[in-house]
Order: sequence, then C-alpha cells, then structure tokens
Amino acid sequence: MKAVTTNPTHTLEAALEYAGRGWHVFPCFEPTPAPSGALICTCPKGASCTQAGKHPRTPNGVKDATTDAAQVRAWWQRWPNANVAIATGDRSGIDVVDVDAKSHGVEALAKLEKERGDLPPTVVAQTSGGGFHVYFRHTGMVSKAASIAPGIDTRGNGGYVIAPPSLHRSGEHYAWVERSSPSEASPAEAPAWIRDAAQAKRPRPTPIEVMAAEKTWQPPAVVSL
Ligand SMILES: [Zn+2]
Repeated sequence: MKAVTTNPTHTLEAALEYAGRGWHVFPCFEPTPAPSGALICTCPKGASCTQAGKHPRTPNGVKDATTDAAQVRAWWQRWPNANVAIATGDRSGIDVVDVDAKSHGVEALAKLEKERGDLPPTVVAQTSGGGFHVYFRHTGMVSKAASIAPGIDTRGNGGYVIAPPSLHRSGEHYAWVERSSPSEASPAEAPAWIRDAAQAKRPRPTPIEVMAAEKTWQPPAVVSL
C-alpha cells in the first residue's frame, strides 16, 4: 500500500469531488510552518495544539458537514488552505477503519488479516508514518478508539476522517493509495470480523420475531444466533 495514485492537489477541488459523491465534508484547521520550520496548527493554540490539522474550523464541526457545493466554495474562499474532513456514518454512507502506525495498528492489522482473512479491495487513503484509512460501506460501526485492536479505531456515526490531500503535522499529505482512490474503487462491505468488533448494535431478533419463531418449529441451525 505504498504507491500513491494521482491525487487532487488542492483541498477545495477534493472537497467538491467528495461532496459530488454524496460524502459530507467540512473544513479543518491545517498545519502551517512556524518560524522554526516546524509545522504547527493554524488555530490560536498554535504549537500547543494537540489536535493539529485535525479539528474543525466551523462552529459545529462535523454537524456542519455538507454536500452543498456553494457552501464548500464559501468555506474555502475564507480558508483556502483548510484541511478537508469527511463525515463518516449514515450521512455519507461510509464507515472508516483508522489504522494508526504510531500505536502499532499496522502490525496488528497484518496479524488479524492472517488470522481472519484479508480485507477486500476498497477505498484506502494513506495517512502518516505508514498508517492508513480503510473506507467501507456504512454498516453502523461505532466511532471508538481501539474498537478493533490497539491502534485500530473505527469511525461511524458522529465521526469524521481527515481526507486527501490534507496536510498532516508530520509534513506528509494524506493521499489515496494506488487503485484505491474513490474514482477507482468503491467502498466495500467490511468483513464480518471487522463488523462484529465495531458494530454499535449487533442484530438481535425483535420480540415480534421471537414470538413468531416460537409458534413455528425451526431447525436448530436456523435459530442459533
Ligand atoms: Zn489546532
């Protein structure tokens, strides 16, 4: 997952493209070079910001996310270099698995894939230090740290991800992995082992289904849940 495909070079261009796909977007503070040369957050906290390049510029954050091109243009006219964030969950129809390199998520995922099966071809962005975001069709994943394993988080309803070509405080740009950009691939359905670990609510029979099942004999294989 090293090679990078052709990516939009400007976050406005990318934001409009994502909005056109029905993905809800909003602007975030971008990192900017300090006099020392180090990248710091453009927000008032500057060098002391612990969320540099990852937090919203708009008052209601992810709740402001939109697919409205005029709103997107207005935001980027005000903040031309803003990072672009995509709201995850039902609004955009995607859930994202965030594999963090620093907390050893990459190794954890490799181990899980060996044990449980490889991830299907899907939309993938590289983040920083060898980490990546794996985009799946929305199935109701929770927005939670370490939901899959230490270093592997999930983002669903109420969550968001910073998207290509946003700038990371490390100096790397988020970028789509070759053949895995949204114009080359579609978000796949997450494998069962990912969904089982990250689902907010596991499917259970409703009382009505239970009552119906009691009336009619079912072979044990069908009723084992
Ligand atoms: Zn900040």
